[in-house]
Amino acid sequence: MTASRTPLTIAIDGPSGSGKSTVSRAVATRLGLAYLDTGAMYRALTWWCLEQKIDLDDPDAVAAAARELPLRMGTDPEAPSVQVADTLVDGPIRTTEISSVVSRVATVPAVRTELCARQRAIMRDAAAHGPGVVAEGRDITTVVAPDADVRILLVADENARLARRARELHGHAGQTAVAATRDQITRRDRDDSTVSQFLQAAPGVVTVDTSDLDLDQSIEAVLKVVENA
Ligand code: C5P
Repeated sequence: MTASRTPLTIAIDGPSGSGKSTVSRAVATRLGLAYLDTGAMYRALTWWCLEQKIDLDDPDAVAAAARELPLRMGTDPEAPSVQVADTLVDGPIRTTEISSVVSRVATVPAVRTELCARQRAIMRDAAAHGPGVVAEGRDITTVVAPDADVRILLVADENARLARRARELHGHAGQTAVAATRDQITRRDRDDSTVSQFLQAAPGVVTVDTSDLDLDQSIEAVLKVVENA
């Protein structure tokens, strides 16, 4: 890290299973930048709503919970953390229970307004007091940070994404594991894409297709885009 270097903001969007979290973390580590997982913020809010027994079909109540959410995001790419009040929720927010309802929370417009403001504040802080940030999600290149120095859409074909997520969740990509994963990928992307544009690159956003790339190759591909920028 060099204090004199111009801060760098990298925005990475993509659908589920595109590899954006793993790739973004690795890129942040390689470049000495902070790392912000914005999906974890929507997941943390969903976890909090369930804890507080808030009706997810009541957008006003969900929006109020978003405004009051006592959330702390740890942005060290080698040890990112998500804390709600006194509880570290990194594990609990990754359950199927959360994945299957998070889109209901994330599609409430007032929730997006609140969490986008918090995301911008974290990114501003990382650039003002450190070397910058890699922020990843669904709407970072288009809404949260359309003026980022580097904007990338990470994509992969549906079969590749299903197989990756099945391996993550079930340890293998056999037929039953893929079928069980389908809701987490296909249905969630469909619901999420009603409020964010992450299936096609917006003007000025560079697409990186990782369908035929392994993790190291995906990281190198993203680093190359950063270098070129
Ligand atoms: O990236 P991840 O799968 O953890 O995101 C969880 C959910 O958070 C997404 O399915 C989507 O509903 C929401 N999300 C969002 N905007 C972002 C990041 C995530 O709506 N920038």
